[in-house]
Amino acid sequence: MPPNNPYLVERLQGFGTTIFSEMSALALETGSINLGQGFPDTDGPDEVREIAIEAVRSGYNQYPPGLGVEALRKAISVHQGRFYGLDIDPVTEVLVTAGATEAIAASLLALVEPGQEVVTFEPYYDSYAAAIALAGGVRRVVTLRPPDYRYDIAELEAAIGPRTRLLLLNSPHNPTGKVFDREELAQISKVAIENEILVVTDEVYEHLIFDGREHVPIVTMPGMADRTVTISSGGKSFSLTGWKIGWLHGSAELVSAIRTVKQFLTYVSGGPFQHAIAAALLLRDSYFEDLKSDMEAKRDLFCSGLTDIGFDVFRPAGTYFATVDIRPLDSEDGISFCLGLPERCGVVAVPTSLFYDDPEAGRHLVRFAFCKKPEVLCEAIDRLSVLKTGGVL
Ligand code: PMP
Ligand code: GLN
Repeated sequence: MPPNNPYLVERLQGFGTTIFSEMSALALETGSINLGQGFPDTDGPDEVREIAIEAVRSGYNQYPPGLGVEALRKAISVHQGRFYGLDIDPVTEVLVTAGATEAIAASLLALVEPGQEVVTFEPYYDSYAAAIALAGGVRRVVTLRPPDYRYDIAELEAAIGPRTRLLLLNSPHNPTGKVFDREELAQISKVAIENEILVVTDEVYEHLIFDGREHVPIVTMPGMADRTVTISSGGKSFSLTGWKIGWLHGSAELVSAIRTVKQFLTYVSGGPFQHAIAAALLLRDSYFEDLKSDMEAKRDLFCSGLTDIGFDVFRPAGTYFATVDIRPLDSEDGISFCLGLPERCGVVAVPTSLFYDDPEAGRHLVRFAFCKKPEVLCEAIDRLSVLKTGGVL
């Protein structure tokens, strides 16, 4: 828990610096392999990067339109039709944002009144708690429990009450790697419809999904079209996390409400990059298949290495994160385990307890990012192997 800063507004007290920045700084300081913050160590496709360079050269350097450049909005619509059979109007139903992060924050600021409740699953991505707090909302969580990170429907129903405004969903899910299946999405949709709440769904890992599973956007479920805001980003699908080109789509009314907020946060961003991501979304099928199979091979390599070391590994169905239970290695507390890991092994990971309201629920869980070159993953496994014989940290 970071110290209070007297200048910071009360609703943001306790948020401090994100664990991802802190752990990346620690990795740099100690020369460790950084498996904490999730970003790939290879950049996205050359042809996409060339388009960004060309866009800078050919003069796309002034404010793009408020909704996002037309080519990108059209490409988002085509992408959602191609992969999910959706029919989205690129003029009224799409908004380009500064990454998924802005899409999430703008959605919550636009849709949640102070005091209204937002239900989400824990562990949750850290910006959710901050965005709910910024909006003056009240967070209610439903716990995903290992080994398969399922939730209890009774807990979900109990979390929803008369003040619930929306449910904030994330599938594929960071940090657990869980992919919500059709049955769960049908259950969540039923709860949303019966209670007349909105669903904001973060699908940034939509193309990182393994073992032949399908990504099902909740907006495709019956009755969900008018109550869902779907968010994604070019960061994960094209290994270009620094570009911060994200987007959302939903009914014209929802998009217009969120746009009102978004225009006063950044107005617009990343003009030249928007042109390049437009082309990226239209890449051939083999690009998306290779991205998936390449990451699946990394998952297999890394998870079997972690298992050999003795961790209890929760094999992810999607994303580029693997969570492990550290108790078989005689450690109990993920925070002290992660703080000691750089010195001990030269590897950085992230304690999952920080993504829970109930820190006990995730106390012994740690997240590793495996979006790294195979040789880097092998080196990390090699370094972590000292834990096999090393006893208590
Ligand atoms: N949602 C989830 C679940 C994430 O893991 C991340 C981080 N990569 C984001 C949103 C933020 O995406 P962006 O970098 O596009 O803002
Ligand atoms: N989404 C990345 C992760 O989960 C981190 C992005 C960030 O640092 N905000 O590791």
